[in-house]
Amino acid sequence: MAKQVNCDCGFMVRTQSDDELVRHVQLHARDIHQMEVPREKALEMAKPVEATVTI
Ligand SMILES: [Zn+2]
Repeated sequence: MAKQVNCDCGFMVRTQSDDELVRHVQLHARDIHQMEVPREKALEMAKPVEATVTI
C-alpha cells in the first residue's frame, strides 16, 4: 500500500515503503522548515493511498 504525506507548504510525497516516506519527509522538513521530524511523526502524517487512483 502506497502512502502519501501532504505538507502545509504544498509539498507532497508518495512512496511504497515507510522507510522511503520517512526519509523524504525528514529531508523536506530539514531543508525547507528547519525542523527535525521523528519517524513516528512522519508516519502519523502519512495517509494510505490507492496507487491507481488519481484525484
Ligand atoms: Zn513543507
